[in-house]
Amino acid sequence: MDCALCKKPIEKYNAKLNQLKIDESISVEICSDCIDKFLNWQKTLFATLFPTKAAKKWASKK
Ligand SMILES: [Zn+2]
Repeated sequence: MDCALCKKPIEKYNAKLNQLKIDESISVEICSDCIDKFLNWQKTLFATLFPTKAAKKWASKK
C-alpha cells in the first residue's frame, strides 16, 4: 500500500486513519506524514480564511 501523495509505502496502515474517502467509489491512501502536512496546510487555510486571534493562536501551535 503506497501513499497517494508521496508514493512512499505506508507503515502500519490503518484503514480508519490512512484512508481518505472522497465518495462511495473513490478513496485514497495517505501516509501519516502526509496527513500531518495536510493538517498543517488546513491550519494555514483556516488562518487565512478566518484571520481571528483564536485561529492564529491555533495555527501557530505545532
Ligand atoms: Zn505520503
